[in-house]
Amino acid sequence: MYPTQQHLENYAALVVSVGVNVQQGQTIVVTAPITSAPLVRLIASKAYEAGAKNVHVEYNDEELSRIKYKQAPEEALTEYPMWRAKAWEEYVENGAAFIQIYCPNPDLLNDVDPARVAIATKAASTALSGYRGSLMNHTNAWSLISYATPEWAAKVFPDLPTEEAEQKLWERIIDATRIDLEDPIGAWREHNSKLLQMVELLNEKRYKQLQYEAPGTSLTVELPEGHIWLGGSKANAKGVFFNPNMPTEEVFTMPHRDGVNGTVRSTKPLNYNGQVISGFSLTFKDGKVVDYSAEQGYEALSNLLETDEGARHLGEIALVPHDSPISNSNVIFFNTLYDENASCHLALGQAYPVNVAGGTKMTSEELLTHGANRSLTHEDFMIGSADLNIDGVTKAGTREPIFRAGNWTI
Ligand code: ZN
Ligand code: ZN
Repeated sequence: MYPTQQHLENYAALVVSVGVNVQQGQTIVVTAPITSAPLVRLIASKAYEAGAKNVHVEYNDEELSRIKYKQAPEEALTEYPMWRAKAWEEYVENGAAFIQIYCPNPDLLNDVDPARVAIATKAASTALSGYRGSLMNHTNAWSLISYATPEWAAKVFPDLPTEEAEQKLWERIIDATRIDLEDPIGAWREHNSKLLQMVELLNEKRYKQLQYEAPGTSLTVELPEGHIWLGGSKANAKGVFFNPNMPTEEVFTMPHRDGVNGTVRSTKPLNYNGQVISGFSLTFKDGKVVDYSAEQGYEALSNLLETDEGARHLGEIALVPHDSPISNSNVIFFNTLYDENASCHLALGQAYPVNVAGGTKMTSEELLTHGANRSLTHEDFMIGSADLNIDGVTKAGTREPIFRAGNWTI
């Protein structure tokens, strides 16, 4: 089924009220592919209805990006316009909220040299580090949602004709975002409060270590002193609650950047900047990746790990039960927003300062000494499955089962 007008209106209303929680007089910045214009227009209209002062839309066209990656001289890939980076920072300073429609074609850059992609990615993340840092600090409200495109749908359902694939992908999105319900906003409030219960439980436990066991995985993750679990909606610097991801099923915290040891095997492919990395393993010693392999996308994985020193350390650990709505659809989405919410995952790179007590007020150096990782990148990858067991180790050294066969035991 394609979304009806009512579905799209519900989707727009949802991201405006629960996603970024638009405030009176606020500017809303929407980043979206040109193909999602029907939804973007509805978002703009709902945002003004909710009191927004200005809705600024940045459309992008991934085909144009592909042409640039293939044909532009290398010099152009090393440049990111500073006026553009400054514009994002100005929006942050003025208290804007950010909505991003994220639905990249996973095979977009199949025939592009990964080294050229790495150059452009690094230039953009360096220029945008201030803006991205503010978002990871939850200074402003932001929300990430997806929109079915023919290219993405063809990757997810390769055996179906394009239109059928697109409709099937829409069905999954409609289901995961609850926009077919009579009261999607109410349903999201209820969902947020369920995630919050799990967050509170884990925050009371104060585990000092998590131990992961699964085929190809045996990993110990130390949690820093003062770590904070989060999930569902979060408060920004002004105390306004927002949902950074829609859908969301995770509860997450930060690992100690130097306290990860052992090997972990990915369980779903990762779409990293238009290149698919799959069947990969990472081996950690004292927090750092010291060995790795990949069945597909080895070079892209190398480039990710070479981003900077912090790209070889973990910045996030997230728990998602195997028996959860997106996971039960048994679909591999090749889109991290969907795949990460179907699976326990880890992230290489930057930690969220909100995941440690007092973190949002700490300098980058102070965060490091508290065990929070620092990097230009933050890339989630999926490690959950029906075979994953996780134990929590308390301060007193007692082991408690948290996950058995992929699901919560607490
Ligand atoms: Zn996550
Ligand atoms: Zn993440």
